[in-house]
Amino acid sequence: MGTRHNWQLNRDMAYPYEAPPPQRQVAYVFDTNKCIACQTCTVACKTCWTSGKGQEHIFWNNVETKPWGGYPMGWDLNILKQSDPAKWDRGTLTSLTIFETDKGAPPRGYSPTPQDYASPNLGEDEVIGLADLGQYFGDTHPMWMFYLARICNHCDHPACVAACPRKAVYKRDEDGIVLIDQQRCRGYQECVKACPYKKVFYNVISRASEKCIGCFPRVEQGEVALCVAGCIGKIRLHGFRTSQGEPREDNPLDYIIRIRKLALPLYPQHGTGPNVFYIPPLHVPDGFLEQLFGPGVAEAKVTYRDIPNDPKLLGAMMLFGASERIIDRFDVEGDVAIGWDTEGREVARVPFTEPTYVRTHYDEKHAVYRHNTP
Ligand code: SF4
Ligand code: SF4
Ligand code: SF4
Repeated sequence: MGTRHNWQLNRDMAYPYEAPPPQRQVAYVFDTNKCIACQTCTVACKTCWTSGKGQEHIFWNNVETKPWGGYPMGWDLNILKQSDPAKWDRGTLTSLTIFETDKGAPPRGYSPTPQDYASPNLGEDEVIGLADLGQYFGDTHPMWMFYLARICNHCDHPACVAACPRKAVYKRDEDGIVLIDQQRCRGYQECVKACPYKKVFYNVISRASEKCIGCFPRVEQGEVALCVAGCIGKIRLHGFRTSQGEPREDNPLDYIIRIRKLALPLYPQHGTGPNVFYIPPLHVPDGFLEQLFGPGVAEAKVTYRDIPNDPKLLGAMMLFGASERIIDRFDVEGDVAIGWDTEGREVARVPFTEPTYVRTHYDEKHAVYRHNTP
């Protein structure tokens, strides 16, 4: 079994698949503080990619309410129950990943039942507990929930790739997107079992496994994914992070993820090196969030709260949802954030404060009364 360095765990780890890191890695930042669970992303993906026969239960993109929601049902608890709790020592994982628990065996996992896919929104909008009779909320209160949008993580060390006995799952060198060759797949579903995020699905009609394709036809044209372009809350930033060499100060993903450590991987302790990074929700207790996002939660919250005093980071945050083009480089000029695509064209220019225009109540030219809305 080979050994790979996992920067999210700050250590080397066993990984049963030989492949160099891609030239560049597709990555996403999701700001959980802004998601409103409108499911526009879910519908954008569903209507474009998974509206065929045998795909009725399949959502490559889903948005679940934590703490109780999960699709498929209990996906994260089921895999966590099979491992010891994650242990960290000053940013280094000291417990075992899914590749290290059963030496020489496929990654540890489990297979969901068909019923687990039947209710994708179970637990939606349910808070952590019940309010006592007569209780009222004056200020911050102990009831919380938050929305967790999920897609395939196009992992650095994908469990689905490692588990496939047919080598039908592969990671592209040009962008790190993980795909399943539908002709090679024989439907053994080892990838479904191995993915700790349960982001591979079995199609009973095609009798092959399938997963989020990272919207590769759009990415090849320099466009962001459909679930990103359609996001109402502008919670998503999609692009490439540097996968070989030092992170770049002028790359918005490198800057937010690696340099400022504002966005964190989901369940990094599994060891797959996920490439969807979450800005943790400010109102949720650190203890719960550290189970999901590892030891960087408290520091990320401090950084997030200080964004109004941090022009460069504010500039990077202003680029969420600002363009359908993938932004490769950014800068801040005065109080304007500017983004350029991979071809060097300016594709986003966002002022920190949107201008306000106050119009006269009565428009003499058109003889109409107008309302000013804030
Ligand atoms: S479209 Fe955006 S805001 Fe709406 S549910 Fe999806 S991630 Fe959240
Ligand atoms: S999230 Fe799952 S399906 Fe996606 S690359 Fe990682 S292991 Fe594979
Ligand atoms: S990246 Fe594309 S294929 Fe993947 S979840 Fe988003 S819309 Fe669906």
